[in-house]
Amino acid sequence: MLELWNKGRELRALRALDAASALLTVGVGEAGMAVLQRLLATVFECGTGGASAAVELARAEDALIGLPLDTEQTEAAARAWLAEAHRQRALERAQETGADPELAEEALLKHPAWLLHQLDPLARRIRLVHASTGRTATEVSRAAGLEGHLLARWSRGATRPNAGQRRALARAFGLAPGWLGVQRDTIPDAVLYQADGGCPCGVGAARFAASALDVRPFKAAWGQLGLFCTGCGQPYLVEPDGRFHPVPAIGTGRYTHSFGALADGVQPDGAIGPELSCPWPIAHWYAPAGLNRRGALRVPDVYRSPPSAAGGD
Ligand SMILES: [Zn+2]
Repeated sequence: MLELWNKGRELRALRALDAASALLTVGVGEAGMAVLQRLLATVFECGTGGASAAVELARAEDALIGLPLDTEQTEAAARAWLAEAHRQRALERAQETGADPELAEEALLKHPAWLLHQLDPLARRIRLVHASTGRTATEVSRAAGLEGHLLARWSRGATRPNAGQRRALARAFGLAPGWLGVQRDTIPDAVLYQADGGCPCGVGAARFAASALDVRPFKAAWGQLGLFCTGCGQPYLVEPDGRFHPVPAIGTGRYTHSFGALADGVQPDGAIGPELSCPWPIAHWYAPAGLNRRGALRVPDVYRSPPSAAGGD
């Protein structure tokens, strides 16, 4: 199970958990449920030595049955739900592969993906922002004037920074200080994972894809709500209330799970946006000049404004 684990998988699992717990805390409709399905499939794929993206999508579909629509959960409850779904899938996977269930449970508890469930939003935010900047821990620590070992401790959730350290780290990352304030330690950054009626890249107007986003939509109707941003290529599913949910590409290499609209040529350049090991959603992380994905990453605008001004509360 562990041999496939690497930095890319860790980031995919971590970002999937971060986005999924954020969506669960704000409550989602059917479009958000379809996004949750993809996020959960990613957790299964990374965290249980799962099968192909398509198989894990089907398992995620099963796991989501009974999850109520538009019901907000606390962050702790959201994380507990995700961990339990992960555990159930790991046990089911043991059955599929003929592994001993007790050994499988033991292995799960030691799996690096399982440890990610213990990270609170602060630790996840520090990890994800750090990874997205592409700087080493030494570079960040030096820029923040902090001792080298501290960043790793905070990233593991072993300790939390004090007030001065929070300000120094926010400055080094280019974040408005409020994002690393104590009051946000347990609040996930839902503002990253949903948008109001437009794409945050600010380039072009999103246009509707005339075809299903997903080749295997959870419910047929969801696929009809798919659109791609003509600016950055980010695919979205849209709630009836106008909320845009960015949809991740899932799977890698020849197992990449494509969107129906790509196969139908609705999205002509074939862009499906980066998958979850990359800074994501693409609209937040790439400056307009860098929308070809070779441009420089920038800290998202939402992170450069105070959380309340960004609507992040
Ligand atoms: Zn865009």
